[in-house]
Amino acid sequence: MRLQLPSTFIMHVTPRQLFFSHLAQTSDFPLALEIDRAEGVFLYGKNGQRYFDLISGIAVSNVGHRHPEVLSAIQQQLDKYLHLMVYGEYVQSPQVLLAEALSDTLRLDARYPSPYGTISNVYFTNSGTEAIEGAMKLAKRFTGRHEFVSCYNAYHGATQGALSLAGAEFFKQNFRPLLPGIRHIRHGAIADLENITQRTAAVIIEVISGEAGVRVPEAGYFAALRQRCTEVGALLILDEIQTGFGRTGTFWAFESTGIYPDLLVSAKGMGGGMPIGAFMASPEIMQVFKEKPILGHITTFGGHPVSCAASLATLRVIRENQLPSRAHALGQRIKARLQHPSIKEIRGQGLMLAAEMESFGVLKSVIDRCIERGVITDWFLFCDNAMRLAPPLIISEAELDEACGIILGVLGE
Ligand code: PMP
Repeated sequence: MRLQLPSTFIMHVTPRQLFFSHLAQTSDFPLALEIDRAEGVFLYGKNGQRYFDLISGIAVSNVGHRHPEVLSAIQQQLDKYLHLMVYGEYVQSPQVLLAEALSDTLRLDARYPSPYGTISNVYFTNSGTEAIEGAMKLAKRFTGRHEFVSCYNAYHGATQGALSLAGAEFFKQNFRPLLPGIRHIRHGAIADLENITQRTAAVIIEVISGEAGVRVPEAGYFAALRQRCTEVGALLILDEIQTGFGRTGTFWAFESTGIYPDLLVSAKGMGGGMPIGAFMASPEIMQVFKEKPILGHITTFGGHPVSCAASLATLRVIRENQLPSRAHALGQRIKARLQHPSIKEIRGQGLMLAAEMESFGVLKSVIDRCIERGVITDWFLFCDNAMRLAPPLIISEAELDEACGIILGVLGE
């Protein structure tokens, strides 16, 4: 039987109502902005309202929305093939070209001592949390250990392995039991490194602690961390899901630390707006997935050819246009522009910034009024008094100044 709805019914149900009645809700206060289209640094609402996207869909749209080269790569791939086969069986050129291009960003420099050598093997996933899961499995399998160390106030994803790493009980407590053997350390505290021991399979850490409100450790921290991991035989896994693809002023944030990881995890900005993630390691580490058991990690859609084509175009746009150094310069510009007594501090690197205010109450009203005036910002999972500022790296100076002017205007009210 065909279900036929009266046309009046269809006409009177708005997308906004459907959003609330049929889309699973995870809070009682979603932003619920209805967006019609997006271009560059702008989102456009149903009635033509224009919004500066100063958070890049949470550190995703590093090359802006609908970058023409990303669209063209997607279009070309659409004309060839979509899904062909589960992961790792067929030679699909978007995957292998992207894996090669990623390896090229990771050439091991003699300055960086690394126990396992160059990272040149890539395993593609659909998302950040899946890439973290894969990296955790790889570390367990390679080291024969099962304990992990992560940081307080860190977020690495919402699936149960990645959630076990989360550094705050708030998101975990009602989902136990989770993985056993997880220890937490303070991001940036050298004294805590003694918690990394010969039982530790891996330390999973961000170069800049994002959801803690963009915390950049003191110089010397990562050298000490690298040394401790090497000493006790624990793998060092860097989660560059937010920091990667040029956001912090270098292609990978670890380039500014003077150390080289054993595993690297990417997602978010990697896809230029398409879903993709990856965990990367040296061939010596990655090859353990081939035995005991064979097919050590499986995915159907990981490394989808359209996502890989979009990601390769994104990577090229970022490198060819020197967007990392642009991010650095624009970050300095925001720090200089956003001077106001209500902003206690602006911290961060490149275009991964947090502007700290007195309280959540103050911040929330600023964010709400900024949206009314066409500027989208946000706060952080584990820091509710700092404004998230992470615009696309292609934002122009004039656009940036206009957006900062709107924020300053709101702060002045
Ligand atoms: N790690 C970090 C540092 C993240 O910021 C996020 C997403 N906010 C994740 C992991 C999880 O990525 P995804 O949402 O793609 O699963």
